[in-house]
Amino acid sequence: MIKEETIYCTGCGVTLQNEATGSLGYVPAEAMQKEPIICQRCYRIKHYNESSSITLKQDDFLKLLGSIGQAKALVVNIVDIFDFEGSMISGLARFVGNNPIVLVVNKIDLLPKVTNTNRIINWVQRRAKEQGLKVVDVVLCSAKKNMGFDRVIASLQEHRGDRDIYVVGATNVGKSTLINRLIADFSDLEAELTTSHYPGTTLDLVKIPLDDGKSIVDTPGIVYEHRLTELVSKRDLNRLMPDKPLKPMVFQLNEGQTLFFGALARIDFIKGEHQSFTCYTSNAIQIHRTKLERADELYAEHKGEMLAPPSKADLEELPKLVKHPFHIPKGKKMDVQISGLGWIKAGSDLGADLAVHAPKGVKVVLRESLI
Ligand code: GDP
Repeated sequence: MIKEETIYCTGCGVTLQNEATGSLGYVPAEAMQKEPIICQRCYRIKHYNESSSITLKQDDFLKLLGSIGQAKALVVNIVDIFDFEGSMISGLARFVGNNPIVLVVNKIDLLPKVTNTNRIINWVQRRAKEQGLKVVDVVLCSAKKNMGFDRVIASLQEHRGDRDIYVVGATNVGKSTLINRLIADFSDLEAELTTSHYPGTTLDLVKIPLDDGKSIVDTPGIVYEHRLTELVSKRDLNRLMPDKPLKPMVFQLNEGQTLFFGALARIDFIKGEHQSFTCYTSNAIQIHRTKLERADELYAEHKGEMLAPPSKADLEELPKLVKHPFHIPKGKKMDVQISGLGWIKAGSDLGADLAVHAPKGVKVVLRESLI
């Protein structure tokens, strides 16, 4: 148990606690004996140049965004190209006020090698605009593979002026990985970490000092439960998230056929001419083709076994599948994006009617095709 009186982190000022790892202010019980006491997050930044993931739910996150609106900030919003729709922060533009936003699109190492970068940037710009998000720049990178990082730094230098850099993102987009790179390139770790208190919130953000007296502000990641990645077990999470460039699987389907993605999702091709369904999902997810008329029965009999992941036990924890009808207009190729699982490109001269089944709550959208 933590000591009776409230104790604060001498690094960032957050109230310390030793119960919830991954939450703000966590410090392991043994570290409470040391002086000065700092939270695990500050400890990692100081000693390993490493920030770790702290997460927040929607309400607190919106308060946090609101407070960024009051600050003089360059907002760096990191999104995940593998789950673009699922990782976009809804209402970001509204909350951050007049502060400029740079959209950093991470994990581009996952795109097939032949992908045209300019096309992707244009696609991202159109998507951002559709969502009412005005950005001063779109930069593609891979924090993990160290690709495009020079462009990230160049963009931040160009747009930050005398602003602090606030890094925001959903969980799992690679925010920590990216911040750790920024720390390595940019920061002055001899200087002290400082606290910033925001009125009306319990948040104390870690400011990582930069060489020029400004800071990078690491914010907690928002947990979006509409992402499949937030709903599955840890083991299945590793299967869902690809770690190599995507190798799309192509299926030639007739109407009346169904594709199962393990037992996590299913696409029914209800009506349309013979066409290809190109699946951009992790290769650890087995795709199984069957007749639509047999699909319910197959699912009932084989979920958690032949149709896996998830395993039978993990399936119990997952919300039931619900159906989303979609119509792809004539002459268009479009993506059905299932947040956290990936996307499937389909469409033909005569259009297509689809029914997509995904666990209840998971965001499923039809979008202009990415590739
Ligand atoms: P955070 O929750 O946003 O702080 O995300 P993390 O930095 O902890 O990363 C979440 C997961 O995404 C980890 O498994 C990382 O290895 C992975 N990841 C981060 N950056 C990249 C990237 O550029 N490419 C790929 N393929 N994976 C990445």
